[in-house]
Amino acid sequence: MPLLLIDDALAKIAERVVPLPRVSVPLAQTLGRFLAEPVVAPLDLPPFTNSAMDGYAIRAADTPGRLRMIGEAAAGSPFTGTLGADEAVAISTGAVLPDGADAVAQIEIVTALTGPSGPSIAIDQAVELDEAIRHAGSDVRRGDQVLEAGIRIGPAQIGAAGALGLGELPCGQLPSVAVLSTGTELRPIGEDLGPGQIYDSNGPMLTALLETAGATVTRIPAVADTAEAHREALETALEHDVVITTGGVSVGPHDLVRRVGAELGVEEVFWRVALRPGKPLSFGVRERTLLFGLPGNPVSTLVCFELFVRPALYGLQGSTTIEPEFGKRVLTQAIARNPERDDLIRVRIAADGSLEPLRGQQSHQITITAVSDGLARIPAGTGELAAGAEVAFLPLHGL
Ligand code: AMP
Ligand code: MG
Repeated sequence: MPLLLIDDALAKIAERVVPLPRVSVPLAQTLGRFLAEPVVAPLDLPPFTNSAMDGYAIRAADTPGRLRMIGEAAAGSPFTGTLGADEAVAISTGAVLPDGADAVAQIEIVTALTGPSGPSIAIDQAVELDEAIRHAGSDVRRGDQVLEAGIRIGPAQIGAAGALGLGELPCGQLPSVAVLSTGTELRPIGEDLGPGQIYDSNGPMLTALLETAGATVTRIPAVADTAEAHREALETALEHDVVITTGGVSVGPHDLVRRVGAELGVEEVFWRVALRPGKPLSFGVRERTLLFGLPGNPVSTLVCFELFVRPALYGLQGSTTIEPEFGKRVLTQAIARNPERDDLIRVRIAADGSLEPLRGQQSHQITITAVSDGLARIPAGTGELAAGAEVAFLPLHGL
């Protein structure tokens, strides 16, 4: 059976992702969440016409000239009267523009004077109409859309919603995710290693990856390569929105995840993708639960998470696209292509922004991967990609 192409695998995942229900989230807790409905401005911003500078509210037609001071408008303390001909009101940034004024003379071009008839100012140049004025609604008008549904909420979006007085935003619910490492060789970190044993590093790595993707994580203790242990752990795991297993999806006699999953009612959507590392990836569904069977090699686990699991988790939260967010960068050096599979090589970003492949591209080399900035996608094919060729680049997320 030919291997499934990465993009076809993503399309098959997207078909199975049904966004979780929306929930109302307090604004301060919306960072990184996905907006479930468009945000429409409930008011004009600014809500009132105000000064962009510290200075004097005036009528432009009166300048240059000498103007009589009739009061003060400070931010939060409007001037209540009306400004007439040859009059000025001291004004601070953000204060309501007094009725009758049509410009603000900034403090730097004004000379303050005192005299027998009270304080006045001299302005010896013409000030333009609307100078230093921020009109009501010049940022947004009531009823206009401010944010689209499906975007990921960042600090600027929180600032916009806050300016509009929105204390809560409708967001996609966070998916609950069970993480299960499989392999008789695995020991929990902190214990001594016996012969043939290694630490279960995929467990904490996946937990960390999931935290960056907004998931609520349940870690199930690692299981040995027996069908009974797999069955018991997978039964619990399948209660969650998403199950991520690592290991046990290859072709060996001890690879049990797919077989036991099928016994428990998991419908396999695909197995094996034209990707290196990560070929044995398995994806299945049971009712609303998605099961990602990631290969056990730690670099394969990481690559498959970034390519397939993260987009699916964002999709469950309401993201409109279910694709990894590749950018474009160029290679520092020529790279041989793999005839059968797309290579997701680990790279560092050089000082000039180009991508330098790391030495050590095997799927067990997690400590080499730990100094990488991200993944470059080298499309399957013959020959090599030349130095300077543009490739898709996926930053390794994290923080
Ligand atoms: P598997 O996919 O089960 O054939 O495992 C492939 C390789 O990944 C083997 O060398 C395993 O020992 C290793 N491996 C599997 N699970 C983990 C894990 N949780 N942490 C670190 N290495 C693992
Ligand atoms: Mg194994």
